[in-house]
Amino acid sequence: MALAFDEYCRSFIILREQESKSRLRGLDAQKANIAAGVAFFRILRTSLGPKGMDKILQSPDGDITITNDGATILEQMDVDNQIGKLMVELSQSQDYEIGDGTTGVVVMAGALLEQAEKLLERGIHPIRVAEGFEISSRIAVDHLESIADTLDFSATNIEPLVQTCMTTLSSKIVNRCKRSLAEIAVKGVMAVADLERRDVNLDLIKVEGKVGGKLEDTELIYGILVDKDMSHPQMPKQIQDANIAILTCPFEPPKPKTKNKVDIDTVEKFQTLLKQEQQYFDDMVQKCKDVGATLVICQWGFDDEANHLLMHRNLPAVRWVGGVELELIAIATGGRIVPRFQELTPEKLGKAGLVREKAFGTTEDRMLYIEHCANSRAVTIFIRGGNKMIIEETKRSIHDALCVARNLIRNNSIVYGGGAAEISCSIAVEAAADKYSGVEQYAIRAFADALDAVPIALAENSGLSPIETLSAVKGQQMKENNHCCGIDCNDTGTNDMREQNVFETLIGKQQQILLATQVVKMILKIDDVISPSEY
Ligand code: ADP
Repeated sequence: MALAFDEYCRSFIILREQESKSRLRGLDAQKANIAAGVAFFRILRTSLGPKGMDKILQSPDGDITITNDGATILEQMDVDNQIGKLMVELSQSQDYEIGDGTTGVVVMAGALLEQAEKLLERGIHPIRVAEGFEISSRIAVDHLESIADTLDFSATNIEPLVQTCMTTLSSKIVNRCKRSLAEIAVKGVMAVADLERRDVNLDLIKVEGKVGGKLEDTELIYGILVDKDMSHPQMPKQIQDANIAILTCPFEPPKPKTKNKVDIDTVEKFQTLLKQEQQYFDDMVQKCKDVGATLVICQWGFDDEANHLLMHRNLPAVRWVGGVELELIAIATGGRIVPRFQELTPEKLGKAGLVREKAFGTTEDRMLYIEHCANSRAVTIFIRGGNKMIIEETKRSIHDALCVARNLIRNNSIVYGGGAAEISCSIAVEAAADKYSGVEQYAIRAFADALDAVPIALAENSGLSPIETLSAVKGQQMKENNHCCGIDCNDTGTNDMREQNVFETLIGKQQQILLATQVVKMILKIDDVISPSEY
């Protein structure tokens, strides 16, 4: 920076480019980071729970999303603050790993940051705070294990799974249909689950949506739904016991790879070429018919002539089917994807009991149902709804419910929701603090207070008086030694979450606490923020 004077002796300052960097160090850095993290916590906490508020997010090109899913809100907020990005990643890792609890994890992290700030102001070193939080998170996770119940279910008794999925759906916009959507999600997961290995491949569940109809019309299809129709309007709309050729080769004459030139100077030559092309199509169709195919599903398109020929030779066909769908069709029908006509054999055909085309509404929209497949382990959840926004939100909610059902099949331990698990952990952590004589005990107590943030937010969002409700429930848990008492958000008259059937998976809750602690520890360890300034 230098002071200079112009020709009228007026002073001005010259700034060098390198100096346009801002830098925050030490406690200032920690406080600024905490403030940024807490700002995200304040945004998300009003969306927590069954009575949580929704947010409208508008993308730069004007698209609107209405949601209360934590991961989606943060993802679409277009955050450019460094700590904000950490928060976005936090809720995304919860989403990848568990699939549900994405709002809760940010609320937990924000509450820890708020507590950390108070401790820093009291002069406790950030590393001691981080250590205290680490100890507390282990206490909380172990305590969750000790209060967990197991959920008994089997292939014939899926009701407990449905109840848990209903808890997840009850806090979403689609909670009006939570019973039917939870049943659809659980039946879908059970159809693709391997109960012996306790594993579920969610890739086998396709979630498809179409605007129109009501949310109640959402259905589970034991098969594959493809957003395509028969390539010719006069082809049959229904095929029983279909043998399906799944092709990734186009219905057209091969194009030579080298550059070439064909001179056609007479009418005869032109006609021979035309005939040859027609013969080529004819051979391809014949090849399909010879192996016994009654339906062709093609990754590529084909021109009108080929289309007409297919119709004429009575071989229904579907064109422009995407790669992912093609793979799913192959898995479901037990067929093989065939890249060349020469390789087509009867064993490579997929088998489906019924393939039908269904029209929707008054538009030309048609979809193809491939049902009663040879391998029934691929299903489709077909969502209907009044507009695109509700369909997208239902997709997100169904994804959460599917993940919850999958997690329960992997590990059937549950803890009680409505803040009950957090309150119980808070009591356990608070009690453990007395055993520590060092400075950590302050951080451990602060952690116990942070755990209360979830029930406080649930109470606040439900219009209850937060502190009074929390102290009443906490008192009840201690008096009755009952870890099922939580916040009665829906005013049902009981705050026993076991009676209300409000459960969450144990691994989901443990992951929330562990991830939130990790991020907060990371933020506390940053003591220098160097960033380019705005100008
Ligand atoms: P997340 O994205 O973290 O799952 P949600 O908005 O879905 O956030 O809210 C989940 C919280 O709401 C959990 O703490 C859960 O226990 C609680 N919850 C869900 N349903 C109920 C209910 N019926 N009564 C009380 N609490 C509930």
